[in-house]
Amino acid sequence: MTGDPTALPHPVTGAPFPSPVPAGTGWTGDPAASDTEVADGPVDLARLSQAPTLSLLEARTSVCAACPRLVGWREQVAREKKAAFAGEPYWGRPIPGWGDSEPRVLVVGLAPAAHGGNRTGRIFTGDRSGDWLFASLHRVGLAAQPTSRHAGDGQQLLGARMVAAVRCAPPDNKPSLTERDTCAPWLLAELRLALPTVRVIVALGSYAFDAVLRSLRALDGSVPRPRPVFGHGSEAVLGAPDGHDVLLLGCFHPSQQNTFTGRLTQPMLDAVLARAAGQMDWRGGPQRQ
Ligand code: SF4
Repeated sequence: MTGDPTALPHPVTGAPFPSPVPAGTGWTGDPAASDTEVADGPVDLARLSQAPTLSLLEARTSVCAACPRLVGWREQVAREKKAAFAGEPYWGRPIPGWGDSEPRVLVVGLAPAAHGGNRTGRIFTGDRSGDWLFASLHRVGLAAQPTSRHAGDGQQLLGARMVAAVRCAPPDNKPSLTERDTCAPWLLAELRLALPTVRVIVALGSYAFDAVLRSLRALDGSVPRPRPVFGHGSEAVLGAPDGHDVLLLGCFHPSQQNTFTGRLTQPMLDAVLARAAGQMDWRGGPQRQ
């Protein structure tokens, strides 16, 4: 990549990359290779999402190009950048699931931020929402470090995994219904592969909450009736396809809109994540409060 005049140094490794980052060129944490198959539309995506392992799923997700508007947006943001990050390369690709490959806790968000995950290549990494989330995950024992600045910073999730319902940064944080549905098989595949060990799902916001319920139904898991209602601290026991119980916790999204206004405070976030972390060592179904 050193011959590319648009290449900029990665803030951790110093290696030069163009924006967006081509697959398999050495970006820390890039799960794809240069020959990873690309989903160019929903038909390809349906086939490629049948990956037999989480690592192959991550690789295929990270090169997906099935939504023309979102591909154009994520790459435009990557090229144009924000002034504060003008000297950095931007990932500019979909953000795959990240964390433990046999998680007990699964954290589900909406979509990557244009100058957060879309820049750093890692979910909730490099933006204010992530600052709140990782600080709290660290306080409750689910993350190794209190900050998550960039891939390659040494951060690790401990018994936990994070995914976004929609894997590309959307304009105004609002994917269209078509984009939501086009991306759904990636989340479905992630749940199919991860659910055997998952005991708790934390849904950050109602969008993620609804995506989890839709996915569980599509996987022939069980969802209680009446349908669970999202709220901060809401709890519902779902049935995984193999029959084990999964506790679904609702949590306000740590967006600046919520944290600046005090709708979500650190103690509120800690309380939900501590409830999730409290399930880590328990070997049966969820412990009811
Ligand atoms: S939003 Fe999902 S389906 Fe659409 S291009 Fe990104 S990864 Fe692919």
